[in-house]
Amino acid sequence: MSQQTAFEYIRHGQAPFFRLNTADFSQSGPEAYRGKDVVVLGAPWDGCVTYRSGARFAPYELRRVSALVQSYHPFHGIDVFAKLQAVDGGNIPIPPFNPAGAREIVAAEVAHVTEAGAIPMVVGGDHSVALPVMRALAEAHGPLSVIHIDAHLDTSTAEVWGEKYHHGTPFRNAVEEGLLAKHGLHQIGIRATWGKDDEGDFAKENGAEIYSMERIDDEGIVVCAKNIRKLVGDIPVYLSFDIDGIDPAYAPGTGTPVPGGLSSREALTFMRRLAGINLVGMDLVEVAPSLDHADITLHLASQILYEGIALVALKK
Ligand code: MN
Ligand code: MN
Repeated sequence: MSQQTAFEYIRHGQAPFFRLNTADFSQSGPEAYRGKDVVVLGAPWDGCVTYRSGARFAPYELRRVSALVQSYHPFHGIDVFAKLQAVDGGNIPIPPFNPAGAREIVAAEVAHVTEAGAIPMVVGGDHSVALPVMRALAEAHGPLSVIHIDAHLDTSTAEVWGEKYHHGTPFRNAVEEGLLAKHGLHQIGIRATWGKDDEGDFAKENGAEIYSMERIDDEGIVVCAKNIRKLVGDIPVYLSFDIDGIDPAYAPGTGTPVPGGLSSREALTFMRRLAGINLVGMDLVEVAPSLDHADITLHLASQILYEGIALVALKK
């Protein structure tokens, strides 16, 4: 069992993700994570957002709220934290004034996790942290399939803001850098308005499979998940979960909310129906606790992260 009991957690007085034990911080590099299956890392960085900031505090607040999540998964019928050795890997010490330095240190820390043979689960932070995570994972596993939940395509260009790297561009950069498998981008929950009419062309031209909210309404979330499950096969999958893919009614604590998104139930069902994928890493980004109400976004975010860890446990 890698999760502390409620008694141990309260006695301990600290708040690691999911009441997990922490990595061995007396060691540096991969040794801190040796022997673990899953490492949950905080990436407290929100220097690349276009609108409201605050996601840098998500790792701290998600640790507190995630303590309520227990180990046994009734749908999958597995004891997640008994099957897996999972730890809280602490936060990546991102330099607060240096976007390029942020990308470098995120990629380096994720590489340490993969070198140790563990799977990284990265809690942002804004969505710009996904690119360095994908860089490190593609380096370790080869081209990735990406399951990307978001209201936005995140395939924007440098022309919009004069900056190539921010929270609206990670998947354009990932495609251009060759990090993704052919037809390897699956985008779910897409619905935001576009700045110009050709904004969706890049994704389409590069074989992205787009599940707009209209398509999800028509086909149902279970069919969409089954379709993706079939398409990704055994290819290493990176799951990138922008919380603004969820309707702001269920997840108001985010910087760029867009009405009309997935419900909490659709999101959790979607995650569960991905059972069997070869998940090699995940992020959960854009949660801004200062914009949340009564922790509702944080509770959903911690459940989504747990669902991702459960997908890893299923393959163990
Ligand atoms: Mn978004
Ligand atoms: Mn995004």
